[in-house]
Amino acid sequence: MNQRSRRVKVLATLGPSSSDRKTISRLFAAGADVFRINMSHTDHDGLKRLVEIIRKVEAEQKRPIGVLIDLQGPKLRLGVFADDRVEVSAGDRITFDSIDKPGNASRVRLPHPEILEALRPGHRIMVDDGKVLLKTIECDGKSALLEVVSGQQLSNRKGVSLPDTELPVTAMTTKDRQDLEQALELSVDWIALSFVQRPDDLSEVRKIVKGRAGILSKIEKPQAVDRLSEIINLSDAVMVARGDLGVEMPLESVPGMQKRITRACRRSGKPVVVATQMLESMISAPIPTRAEVSDVANAVYEGADAIMLSAESAAGDYPIEAVSMMNSIAEQVERDPTYPSIIYAQRSEPEPTAADAISAAARQIVETLDLAAIVCYTASGTTGLRAARERPAKPIIALSPIADTARRLALVWGLHCVVTEDARSFDDMVDRACKIAHDEGFAGPGDRIAITAGVPLRTSGTTNLLRIASVSEDGKSDTH
Ligand code: PGA
Ligand code: MN
Repeated sequence: MNQRSRRVKVLATLGPSSSDRKTISRLFAAGADVFRINMSHTDHDGLKRLVEIIRKVEAEQKRPIGVLIDLQGPKLRLGVFADDRVEVSAGDRITFDSIDKPGNASRVRLPHPEILEALRPGHRIMVDDGKVLLKTIECDGKSALLEVVSGQQLSNRKGVSLPDTELPVTAMTTKDRQDLEQALELSVDWIALSFVQRPDDLSEVRKIVKGRAGILSKIEKPQAVDRLSEIINLSDAVMVARGDLGVEMPLESVPGMQKRITRACRRSGKPVVVATQMLESMISAPIPTRAEVSDVANAVYEGADAIMLSAESAAGDYPIEAVSMMNSIAEQVERDPTYPSIIYAQRSEPEPTAADAISAAARQIVETLDLAAIVCYTASGTTGLRAARERPAKPIIALSPIADTARRLALVWGLHCVVTEDARSFDDMVDRACKIAHDEGFAGPGDRIAITAGVPLRTSGTTNLLRIASVSEDGKSDTH
């Protein structure tokens, strides 16, 4: 018995503050369900080491743990200056070009010729997370004359954001491809793609991944927001990447975006992660601000599948405390009497498929009859996702014969995943569901559960069975 007492999942980023086995084990115990490894800051040896540690912790804890690899994506950066930096003020003009020479107050290199080609007069350029804002005055495809709108300093290799420009680059750089190959070799569960702009970015990755991992699109560009529904359709999961989203779009539009993206994902039954600065002050303090607590709570009330820690767990002074705090906030929200009405307000109608009709019926049955849990057999994970989409008030136990499915579903709202071999017969399937519900601590003798499955098992797209069973004294079923 090793269950969480909340439905929302916690995703914790690993880094210098959390790369040894003891800390990772403690992060899991404190509530982390999925670990994120950020390839912007991890080399291949480091990646391999972390995945090995996570798998050891998983074996020791006997619970499936998800591993998410975050690819850096086309993060644009300025070149360098002769004096490392230049001071600027509003009204100053500076040229970005591709000349490979250190910059000064009148010019600097932007080492991305395709970007210089895509810029148009009027396009905004933000440097250093928006600290400097420039506007394009003139451009000839090879260089661009810009005017400083606000800001004080440009310095070596600062990040560049272009909210108005559709970048003629795919979401994967050469480094991303190498990182992806390595990650797939290590059988990670999720691949996160940064700076997705268009549906094509996903087809490209899907061709390489070939179903070996789930693909999560980070929504952090206005171009992705514009084509949100197409991107959600082509993704296996989505992240509201509020860090870069808040640089590329007005900050005040991010909360509304978060609600829009979360709702659209819930409607499609695609897992959605809310990320960045959730407990930011805990990087250096053991207690978060009230506003941060409220922000985490809000994501839980919205019915997000997972809430994420970035630097708080990766590079902060209080990684364990941050996970514990997220866990406590989530538990408290889900116990709050206003929670059901808020989360159910966004429940969508089932789509006209057998899987949805059965998932909706199972939810209604467990709620009407006050049953202990829904147990759903899911080989590929699809049935598990559709069960979670209903956001039922009772626990969902997802049973899969495939360890990779259970690990991937660790990211999904409300799913308690258990790996079990395929049932040998109908009776075995019912017995097995009762026994696991019992052994995992969800149902006692005399309690009833609802079981959903597709028979024959393991044939995807066959969800066709809904059964009520009662748990007997020995933990098996006493209905046959
Ligand atoms: P990052 O992505 O931490 O990789 O930048 C998340 C975000 O932008 O919010
Ligand atoms: Mn980002």
